Amino acid sequence: MSTSATTTERTAGPIVETILVGGRVVDPALGVDTITDVAVGAGRVVVVADNLAAQYPRAAVIDATGTIVTPGLIDLHAHVYPGLGNFCVRPDQAGVERGVPVVVDGGTSGTATIRLARDWITASEPRTRVLSLVDPCVLYLATHDFICHKLEIANDERNLDLDAAAAALDLPDVVGFKVRACTTTDPATSPFLEGAKKVAGDAPIMVHLGRFPHTPSLDTPALLEALRPGDIITHAFRGASGAISAVTHEVVPQFRSAVERGVRLDVGHSATDFRFREARRLLDAGYPPDTISTDMNVFNMDEPVVSLPETMSKILALGVPLGDVIAMATIEAARSIHMEHELGTLEAGRVAEVSVLRLDEPEQGALLSDGYETITARQRLVPVGCLRAGTWIEAG
Ligand SMILES: [Zn+2]
Repeated sequence: MSTSATTTERTAGPIVETILVGGRVVDPALGVDTITDVAVGAGRVVVVADNLAAQYPRAAVIDATGTIVTPGLIDLHAHVYPGLGNFCVRPDQAGVERGVPVVVDGGTSGTATIRLARDWITASEPRTRVLSLVDPCVLYLATHDFICHKLEIANDERNLDLDAAAAALDLPDVVGFKVRACTTTDPATSPFLEGAKKVAGDAPIMVHLGRFPHTPSLDTPALLEALRPGDIITHAFRGASGAISAVTHEVVPQFRSAVERGVRLDVGHSATDFRFREARRLLDAGYPPDTISTDMNVFNMDEPVVSLPETMSKILALGVPLGDVIAMATIEAARSIHMEHELGTLEAGRVAEVSVLRLDEPEQGALLSDGYETITARQRLVPVGCLRAGTWIEAG
């Protein structure tokens, strides 16, 4: 008898606890775009296939009819260490409450406070998974008043400790550096960027396109020339960034060659760092974003950013196909932080990070703002909820 019970258990297959039924599953990494089901159990994706509810009658069913089911969205640039930088949002505000199971903090903290920040994250038990890009400086706090720039800490080489930077990069869930490419004596070189490059190894370095208040920084051509393949330019579609020549209205050669050698373009919307006008020009010139992110903080959360799905809607409205838009917030974001083997697709066996979105088509059109210009789009992506490590969380 015991033998037969063991046999039954063995043939029962993996545990399935929850099934998303009847959604349009779009997984660009797997080349899937079809109406089907997704089964998860023990925190992992079990299978993507048809008629799973009949096959696993004891599983909880979530009706995903009429929705788009994607690999868990990844917001590659947000600020989610409240208490460290006074413009941070709670991880769940950028994350699961917006249908986004994975959020990357974009350099809120330097190396002296990154452990504190991570301990706070652990203690506050967010439902969102939080990864970090750490500033290689000892002291950096992303604050509303740019205090590290005002006090000129961000451009003081005494603030750079490369051993500490290397140690911070070794912390779990720290996936790279976020560098403010400030200059000191030589306007053509940033010791902070060069220092980060010395210890980063394969890890990506994210930089801003555009200047900082109170602090000298590399101009755009010098910055673009200093980046390595795999490094990430956030705010890549902001106005007056220097990516497009004000004289010729063409992409500057340094931008072209940076992209050609594998520098990656990220949206990093923020309040003033994404413009439809610039994005149209760059798209027309053949430079779509690699990744879509929000740069979410308390000053842009309500408007114009709203959420990662809203930011994705803006790229969709510019004519980028839906599958590409989804790739930019899933597998491509995973690639940018070298986590494509863990995140970004619904392959069986992966941690069950799954997002569920509605693609609304309001009769009057969907009003979308970049903070400067409001456009009327045909469609808007709206978060419904997500599975975070297999647990269903409705969007707020
Ligand atoms: Zn930011």
